[in-house]
Amino acid sequence: MVAENYREVDRRVGEACARSGRNRKEVTLIAVSKTKPVELIREAMDAGADVFGENKVQELCDKYEQLPKTLHWHLIGHLQRNKVKYIVDKVDLIHSVDSMRLAEEISKEAEKKQTDVKVLIEVNVAQEESKFGVSVDETEELVREIAKLPRIHVLGLMTIAPNVSDPEENRPVFRTLKKLAVDIKMKNIDNVRMDVLSMGMTGDYQVAIEEGATMVRVGTGIFGERNYSV
Ligand SMILES: *Cc1c(COP(=O)(O)O)cnc(C)c1O
Repeated sequence: MVAENYREVDRRVGEACARSGRNRKEVTLIAVSKTKPVELIREAMDAGADVFGENKVQELCDKYEQLPKTLHWHLIGHLQRNKVKYIVDKVDLIHSVDSMRLAEEISKEAEKKQTDVKVLIEVNVAQEESKFGVSVDETEELVREIAKLPRIHVLGLMTIAPNVSDPEENRPVFRTLKKLAVDIKMKNIDNVRMDVLSMGMTGDYQVAIEEGATMVRVGTGIFGERNYSV
């Protein structure tokens, strides 16, 4: 089932790319495997998945140990400073940097491990109380400050759009994030790329791709509903 789901989502990613005149290679499909066992991750791998998203450090580390080192892991959930040391040398990308203190910790741990860490800035575009992330207005300043730190590299922006019934409702959110990235990119800040836009989940990834997403994070659509009670 998971393999079939993955192929279907991958096909729809392709459709959205074609519809918006984009190259399929521009968009990375991240299979969000949080709460799901490694057996299901292996099923997704059978269908070609090799980039996985987790939102808890411990769970990411456990799965990292059990699965082939050829896989790519992205930390997409909120990150506490005291957990940074466990993941700086395991993840390809941290999507959820939203403070200078967290960025400083990442930089420090990356220095210790003599590695480089790529990050996205999480932006709370819709200004939802319940969500992490900096506001649109604060983003450029945070990017500029982080850019000065060693061994941490800002590749772009990430947002978690509201949970809506009609994905069209989130189109303005995606458009705002894209515009913010373009605006910051034009400032040509040293050590800042701004080419990566992580936006779109199971309910709205096709709209996100139409609006410029380069990474979509799909969990339920691939692995099925999550059950947090077990
Ligand atoms: C859980 C999660 C997702 C995936 O959500 P689905 O609706 O299951 O696709 C994407 N991004 C983040 C940050 C998440 O925590």
